[in-house]
Amino acid sequence: MPLFEFTCKACHETFEEITSSTSRKTITCPKCGSHDVQKLVSATVMTRKGSSLTGGGSCGGSGGFS
Ligand SMILES: [Zn+2]
Repeated sequence: MPLFEFTCKACHETFEEITSSTSRKTITCPKCGSHDVQKLVSATVMTRKGSSLTGGGSCGGSGGFS
């Protein structure tokens, strides 16, 4: 199942959408609802897992540090 990454030209929101290559459905921006989105290539190569939290709390965040 191909996962593509899109960028909204209206609000510059970047989001991922699972689309089928055969069905060209209209991609809608989940943020502003605009249809003016652009598909980004090479999105499936670098699948970021759990990087939705843009805080950088990778280390020392919620560790039981005593
Ligand atoms: Zn948008």
